[in-house]
Amino acid sequence: MLLQWGGMGTAPPNRMQTGLRNQLLGSFRDRGVRCTAQRYAILDHLNRYPSHPTAEEIHKAINRADPRASLATVYKALHAMAEAGLIRELRLRGNATRFEAAFSRHHHFVCDHCGTMEDIDWFELPGLPTKSSRARKVTSYEVVLHGQCRACS
Ligand SMILES: [Zn+2]
Ligand SMILES: [Zn+2]
Repeated sequence: MLLQWGGMGTAPPNRMQTGLRNQLLGSFRDRGVRCTAQRYAILDHLNRYPSHPTAEEIHKAINRADPRASLATVYKALHAMAEAGLIRELRLRGNATRFEAAFSRHHHFVCDHCGTMEDIDWFELPGLPTKSSRARKVTSYEVVLHGQCRACS
């Protein structure tokens, strides 16, 4: 049966929000990570702003809504969540570590001029030539493309 909402002026419950909340809570459960209010706020923020923020930026953003999280707590939470594979830590030479929700597999493009990091749709790499893989077992990879972003070029 289809649910029907009242006429004009009756706002339907925000089903998108509830759905998103359940999804986020579900990903904590799936990964076996304890979900605290702060951890939830972090994942929610990373999901809303896929701009690869630094820990400081995340700290600032979630403190606008809930000014109780110290930077140290945020670091600890980020570490625990990255460890569990809920979020990804992106370390690039010469740059502060950035974070993103680990919901989709993708590569990255980094602008060497302004430092922005953009997502690039996933593509498979051809297999490593046997000569270079030797006895190494490759379990994952991620390509980081460098150059100038649209705004800078
Ligand atoms: Zn740029
Ligand atoms: Zn990304």
